[in-house]
Amino acid sequence: MSDLRLILASSNAGKAREFRALMEGSGWTLLLPAEAALGQLDVPEGARSYLENATLKAVAYARAAGIPALADDSGLEVEALGGRPGVLSARFGGRRATSDRDRFEYLLQLLEGVPPARRGARFRAVLVLAEPGGRVHPREGTIEGRIATAPRGANGFGYDPVFELPDGRTMAELGEEKQAISHRALAMRAMMEVLRDLEAGHSA
Ligand code: IMP
Repeated sequence: MSDLRLILASSNAGKAREFRALMEGSGWTLLLPAEAALGQLDVPEGARSYLENATLKAVAYARAAGIPALADDSGLEVEALGGRPGVLSARFGGRRATSDRDRFEYLLQLLEGVPPARRGARFRAVLVLAEPGGRVHPREGTIEGRIATAPRGANGFGYDPVFELPDGRTMAELGEEKQAISHRALAMRAMMEVLRDLEAGHSA
């Protein structure tokens, strides 16, 4: 059996689904924390930067699990809001926003009356792969688009229903195509090279 195992430093089912699709055929198996007999580790997620958050998570999980760990810190940056919500995307809207829908509706409300030309936005993902010994490998991906005026589409997660691509479809209308173009896919594609190097080290 292959011992090319990697732990995901997150219990976000949406992210896990996407990473598994992105890694298909690579020979690596992505484990969720529960599958490696680890609970959710209490990693303090500051509001500083994607890179810092992802590094803290990856290092903590790699150390605890004794196998490489992959962490993702990602967010939505809206030009008309000066780049917000950014690293705070998962908590946008405060305590009253308890679901993805609450958060994107809050965003639509904030942008009410803002014309299409000023609704530019991007998704950014920073991935960090940490080796159990503490070595870290960061990779980043972004995708440009704009915020729609109403949600459309039933796929994906988070802000996908309100993130419109240049062709007019929202990210939630894409289905599997998202795995070819998303910020996370671009960052993961770059990360696959790191995995190939690790694999080469493994079998050397
Ligand atoms: P975190 O990386 O766990 O801090 O969460 C990032 C947050 O950004 C998610 O909870 C979503 O709200 C948002 N986000 C990140 N990537 C995506 C995506 O691919 N689609 C929609 N929303 C996303």
